[in-house]
Amino acid sequence: MLNIVLFGPPGAGKGTQSEKLIEKYDLIHLSTGDLFRKHLGEGTELGKLARKYMDEGRLVPDEVVIGMVEDKIKETKDGNGFIFDGFPRTVAQASALDKVLEDLGLKISGMIALDVPEDILKERIRERGKTSGRVDDQDDSKIETRIKVYLDETLPVAGFYDNQSKLTKIHGVGTIDEIFNNIAKVIDQY
Ligand code: AMP
Repeated sequence: MLNIVLFGPPGAGKGTQSEKLIEKYDLIHLSTGDLFRKHLGEGTELGKLARKYMDEGRLVPDEVVIGMVEDKIKETKDGNGFIFDGFPRTVAQASALDKVLEDLGLKISGMIALDVPEDILKERIRERGKTSGRVDDQDDSKIETRIKVYLDETLPVAGFYDNQSKLTKIHGVGTIDEIFNNIAKVIDQY
């Protein structure tokens, strides 16, 4: 199985690249942001709880995220593998994911980290905000908060996978296809 963590700050292109990767490698796209937005749309208790964090650009508490991901993995563990998009976002989430996978006899194949300068990230998120309908894409202070949360809480997750010699960085600026081809070259080595 291929289990890939697609990593990067908000606006790095994780969602766009995930869509192409799931098609090429026949993987399951596990985006915690998308799962939360689905709960929100359906008005579930989990959605209501997540909303107050999401609207502010802060992280939903680890135990909530981990429980949701664990359920999803157990429900669908028989495919070719997963692309984890927007997860893990803290070192505690990364450790918990290792444990859940280990219990199922699975492991992370590697982390691919998309590298994009901050000014381009902000520009991309504002552009997406014009059509995404996402509150957290439309307000400069929320965009700032999300980037700060990424730098403070999420960036250490790259170190977690680097310690396991599983980190590859990819330049995340260029055409969608150029970036996709560079990611595919890495995955083909797993
Ligand atoms: P995203 O679509 O990945 O940008 O996620 C949107 C929002 O959902 C984030 O700003 C967080 O509030 C929440 N979220 C998504 N994934 C996670 C996660 N792994 N841990 C905590 N919060 C998350």
